[in-house]
Amino acid sequence: MCSEVANSDLPRRVIVVGAGITGLCTGLALARAGREVTIVERDPPPPDGGPDEAFFGWNRRGAAQFRHPHAFLAVMSNLLEDSFPDLIDEFFEAGARKVTFEDMLPDELKQSYVPAPGDERMWLLMCRRATMETVFRRYAERQHNVEIQSGVNVIGVRTAPEGDLIRVEGIDVQRRGEAPFGMAADLVVDAGGRNSKLKRWLMDLGASIATEDDDAEIVYYTRHYRLLPGVDEPARDPGNPSTGDLGYVRYGVFPGEGGHFAVIVCIHDAEQALHQAVRHGEIFDAMCRSIPGLNRWVSEQRAVATTESFGFSDIHAVWHHYVVDGKPTALNYFAVGDAAVRTNPLYGRGCSTGIMHAHILVDVIEAFESPLQRALEFDRRTEQELRPIFKASLDDDRKAIIRAKAVMAGEQPARPKSIRARLTGAFSGALRIASRRHIRVFRGALRTFNLLEKPGEFMKDRVVLLLTLRYLLRGAGAGAASRTVNGPGREEMLSIIEKALDRSRVEHGNQQ
Ligand SMILES: Cc1cc2nc3c(=O)[nH]c(=O)nc-3n(C[C@H](O)[C@H](O)[C@H](O)COP(=O)(O)OP(=O)(O)OC[C@H]3O[C@@H](n4cnc5c(N)ncnc54)[C@H](O)[C@@H]3O)c2cc1C
Repeated sequence: MCSEVANSDLPRRVIVVGAGITGLCTGLALARAGREVTIVERDPPPPDGGPDEAFFGWNRRGAAQFRHPHAFLAVMSNLLEDSFPDLIDEFFEAGARKVTFEDMLPDELKQSYVPAPGDERMWLLMCRRATMETVFRRYAERQHNVEIQSGVNVIGVRTAPEGDLIRVEGIDVQRRGEAPFGMAADLVVDAGGRNSKLKRWLMDLGASIATEDDDAEIVYYTRHYRLLPGVDEPARDPGNPSTGDLGYVRYGVFPGEGGHFAVIVCIHDAEQALHQAVRHGEIFDAMCRSIPGLNRWVSEQRAVATTESFGFSDIHAVWHHYVVDGKPTALNYFAVGDAAVRTNPLYGRGCSTGIMHAHILVDVIEAFESPLQRALEFDRRTEQELRPIFKASLDDDRKAIIRAKAVMAGEQPARPKSIRARLTGAFSGALRIASRRHIRVFRGALRTFNLLEKPGEFMKDRVVLLLTLRYLLRGAGAGAASRTVNGPGREEMLSIIEKALDRSRVEHGNQQ
């Protein structure tokens, strides 16, 4: 079915559109496999200096999520560490932190913890995205067969007919104020992110792309802070976790480097009053300070904000199919990362699925000779490896939408109407409890969280299943209870916000 080919027969000149995280991962992986890679990016390169210069000074308009916090899951940390250990060292030198399996253990399990083989592979890499991108970018630039051309806008795709298919032969580009020119390539990789235009251009030429698109119905807000001098990060407090779900809002803290951290809150689209409020930094603070798990970070005695609060809307789970009815969109063209598959950022999976996708692509072009086989096999492997992750994210989005709507309708705690949904909720609750009390369950859940296995694979372990069922049989209500975190209910929060707005209006002389 497929033919193994010698390296010398493989396409050598590869253009990658976009120097975002996936573009850089793809470029590095291809270069390591011996290709000559040119990455074309319309934004300028990172400014000179360290993480703060990059965070505050880099004009990164091409990646709208640039200033929202990012974490790399274990699947990504491991892929990078296995292939580029010196890159990982550079992340740490720039202040990135390693969150280990032991760090993530619930307090109930810490005392009796005995490391097991594989635990060392479950770790997260965390720092501001500006830091990640800067380190990544400088590392890629130093590779002898990677060239990054910044400030170059891709404005078209060069194609030729091949039977009833389209073959991609390069791209058209333009630097600001200069004449457009063409760049030829054996392969074009579209890592142009969520708004990449290559899809549109190919469809205009008659190519087919089928798209699934589901609105997650949330807006994701972020505000960055820095701990005050002499203040340490708060110790963990199981009663007041720094990540939680109050039904009408989900929140979390992303610890960064050098005392920096970010707080994110996610709010359902229809929560108009909350949206109006969190766009003001001081109301964002008031809201966070009313949640004990966040107040431990953002109280006035502990931290100062370093940015305004800002939102990211239009959050969708999107899957673009580049093979429709057995026919690829185009030959020698591959879309990776957000240009192909997008999940709700709340699950922190986008960069990880991006690097997985990049590695699938390199495997496929290494193993197959014919452009058609490459296109079909890339699609098959994408379906096989990324589809379960996409589907699990979409299922969680749908559950979250039902829950948010129920809370808005005053049903607190939200109680699903169908028996199936109630059972699923009870099972999830039982699983949450079991994973806090049994290391075997926790390990499995963490493998799923880190995309080290297909979602839910660990439930095939009979012991894990039996332990979970034990909690389920002890009472379905336990499920809902386990989800409750300490914090104001929705009505109370609205009144906290109203008071904070009143205070703000007085302080600012009714200017708002
Ligand atoms: C609010 C938010 C928080 C997130 N948090 C996390 C997280 O914690 N962990 C995680 O793993 N993922 C997270 N994600 C998802 C993650 O940001 C994306 O999945 C990931 O950045 C996708 O990378 P990419 O390289 O495919 O696209 P992008 O990062 O969007 O990069 C695309 C690049 O292509 C360039 N480009 C586009 N068009 C052209 C053109 N015509 N010419 C030249 N260049 C072009 C752009 O300038 C850009 O640099 C988050 C997303 C959001 C929105």
